[in-house]
Formats: sequence, structure tokens, C-alpha cells
Amino acid sequence: MSFCVVGAGFSGAVIARHLAERGHKVTLLDERPHIGGNCYTERDAETGVMVHRYGPHIFHTADQRVWDYVRRFGTFHPYINRVKAVSEGHVYSLPVNLLTINQFFGTVMGPKEAREFIETKADRSITEPRSFEEQALSMIGPELYRAFFYGYTRKQWGLEPTELPASILRRLPLRFNYDDNYFSHPYQGMPEEGCTAIIRNILDVDGISIRTSCSFENIEEDFTHIFYTGPIDRYFKFRLGRLGYRTLDFERFTDDGDHQGTAVINYCDEQVPFTRISEHKHFAPWEQHKFSKTVCFREYSRLAEQEDVPYYPIRQVNEKRMLDSYIELARQQKGVSFLGRLGTYRYLDMDVTISEALMACDKIDSALQISPSELPAFFIDPQ
Ligand code: FAD
Ligand code: UDP
Repeated sequence: MSFCVVGAGFSGAVIARHLAERGHKVTLLDERPHIGGNCYTERDAETGVMVHRYGPHIFHTADQRVWDYVRRFGTFHPYINRVKAVSEGHVYSLPVNLLTINQFFGTVMGPKEAREFIETKADRSITEPRSFEEQALSMIGPELYRAFFYGYTRKQWGLEPTELPASILRRLPLRFNYDDNYFSHPYQGMPEEGCTAIIRNILDVDGISIRTSCSFENIEEDFTHIFYTGPIDRYFKFRLGRLGYRTLDFERFTDDGDHQGTAVINYCDEQVPFTRISEHKHFAPWEQHKFSKTVCFREYSRLAEQEDVPYYPIRQVNEKRMLDSYIELARQQKGVSFLGRLGTYRYLDMDVTISEALMACDKIDSALQISPSELPAFFIDPQ
């Protein structure tokens, strides 16, 4: 059987390897000139630093299967993401923890006192927060919300926080101790040679033919089945309209030595036009570079136009409605399965993408046991 996998990010790579290991012929396409998808990393020629071309990527997961899987394809160095945030001329620690609370309110509270204090700030009348704003007000109260989340979120999403789902803020913890780890997962690390090397190693198996700089739209061959990890609306030639995305512009600059002393600083004030600055050598503290220069990126968020790279699915109510209609079309489409961040139009971290791709591999095995020469028309639900 011959399979086509569209997209050489984590989703596509995991599926392609699995099919090839089962002895199938796989054609893996990506329209970009490289593999790696949005997790792509490369050496910066001027500084020698490993840069994350499409924004900083830190691997974190609570999923043992995923953690065991990725470590088969490269060494991960322990790494804790400790983010700093600038608000109204002061630098704070993020996510909101005891240091942030004491710094912000000029207090010296312990965990219990701080919890009680934040309780007095939080809006207890909101029992089931429906929007980002309601979630913030019920969790941390108006002062911390205004200082750290209101302006940043308007810049990041181009919308009022009242129009955004509460789930976006629920990604972040609130802690009443001095733990400033941005993530709460038990496993966190950075691949020694960058994410691209991990994906290259996943694809290092006989039977996969990789075609970069090749769009699916230009392919005329027939395949037994297609695994499509590109945008779902694009597959259907936008016939029901375009799903909304935010895109990012990265402004590169260099400095001597150390520019900001840490990997990520968020700029929470709305008057500052960018959302954050990342200094990529701090993502690989084990590396030494022969050049003394450092490379940084200012990140600007805006609505994606037709030619822009789609980064963050917006998923407002009208988009969710359009997505449901596309999912209906996908269910009727014979011989194609939709996966990944773009194929399912969801805000997915790398570990979830890999976990879902591994679950898809389990489904492929079960389906091929029942029907060894053909996959069912529709068997992976993009919901
Ligand atoms: P992608 O990596 O997007 O791969 C899809 C590929 O398909 C692309 O390479 C694209 O070129 C190709 N393609 C699309 N359409 C076509 C077509 N028609 N023909 C040919 N090729 C096509 N996750 C974390 O776990 N930790 C982080 O720190 C983190 N940081 C992030 C920071 C930013 C700024 C963003 C936007 C995301 C971040 N993520 C992070 C999420 C992470 O990027 C995704 O989980 C991951 O990239 C999803 O992999 P994927 O294979 O589904 O999609
Ligand atoms: N956020 C914010 N201020 C910050 C960091 C995050 O307002 O300093 C908000 C913003 O809306 C963001 C959301 O919290 O989209 C989730 O943050 P996370 O760091 O998970 O976003 P990511 O950059 O990973 O998408």
C-alpha cells in the first residue's frame, strides 16, 4: 500500500515512521524547504546559537508514553522555563507565584496569608467563568489581571479578553509558593540538537521518501490513504470560508554577550507593541559558542492574512461553527485522515500532538488488521 503524509512536523513524522515500520511505502510532503514543522530549529550563522525559527519551543509533558517515545530519538537536557514579565516599569516573576504577589503588592506574605489575600481580591460571584476575563477576575482579581494579562492578551489575540475562552488562561498555574516553573508537568527538557534533529531521527527509517518545498496541491499521484496535517479549511479549498488564525512576526537582533540574562521576558503593557523577547542561547545553557554574540527575537502578533503562516487558531464562536462544518466535510471525505494542530484547528502543545499521532498509529494497526489492503474511508475523528 502507498501512503501520503502531508506535513513534516511532529504529527506527520510520527505517522510516517509508523507506516514505514509496518513495511508500507510513505511519501512525506512539506511545502516548506525543511522538515520540522513549526518546531523547526537551526543554527544561527552569525552567532552559532540554535534558534527556534517559528518561536520558542520547550518540551514538557505528563504523558509517560510520549516522554519515552521522544527520548528514543535524542538526548533531552533538563530545562525549566522561568519566565519574567515587565509591567509598568517593573520586572516580575511569571506564572503568578508568591514572589510575583509579594513584589507586586509590596508585601512579605507567606503561602497561607497570600492565599487569603488573593481570595479577598478574587470575584467570588463568578462561579463558572465563561471568558478569559471572568477566569482572571475569579482567579486573581482585577489588579494582577490588569498588570499581567489584559494588555498582553489584547496584543496576542487582537480581541478583548471578554471575547476569549477561559481555557486560554487555564493553561497557566497560580501558585502560593516560590515555584516559578512556567509549566506544571513532571517532564520538561530541551533536545540537545534541537527539535529538528529529533524529527530527522524519527524519519530515519527505510521506506519514507521526503519531499520538501512540495505542496500537496501540486501532487497528482494516487495513494491508498492520505494523512493530512495541513489546515483543514485549505484542504477543502476554503469553500466554507477561512478559519481565523493569529500569525507572528519575529524581529531579529543581536547584541554582545548577554542581552537580557534569561530566555524569555514578556512585555505585558499594551503600549509596548511586541509581546515578548526571547534570547535563544539561554534555551541551551549547556552550549559554548565561539562567537561572543547573542541573538534575540521580538515577537509581534497580528491577524493572519492569506499568505501568512498560521500560528494560533482563534476559535471564536463563528470559527467553531465553521470548523464543525469542515469536520462534517472531513467525515465524508474518502481516503483522508486529518490530524495535528492545523488539521484539527486546535491550540495543541507538542506532547499532545505526539500523543494523538501515536493514538492514530494504534487505530491504523487495528484497522489494517481488519482490512489489510485498505483503510476505512474515515476512521480518525478530527473533532
Ligand atoms: P506543524 O508543526 O505546524 O506541521 C504542519 C506542517 O504541514 C507544516 O510544516 C506546514 O508547512 C505543512 N503543510 C501545511 N499545509 C501543507 C500543504 N498543503 N502541503 C504541504 N505541506 C503543508 N508546544 C510545546 O509543547 N511547547 C512550546 O513551548 C510551544 N511553543 C509554541 C510557540 C509558538 C509561537 C507556537 C505557535 C506554538 C508552540 N507550541 C509549543 C505548539 C507546537 O508548535 C505544535 O504543537 C506543533 O508544531 C504541532 O505539530 P504539527 O505536526 O501538528 O503541526
Ligand atoms: N498571557 C498573558 N500574559 C503573559 C503570558 C500569557 O496575558 O505574560 C495570556 C495570553 O493570553 C496567552 C495565555 O495567557 O495566550 C496563555 O499563555 P501561554 O504562555 O500558554 O501562551 P503561548 O505563548 O504558549 O501560546
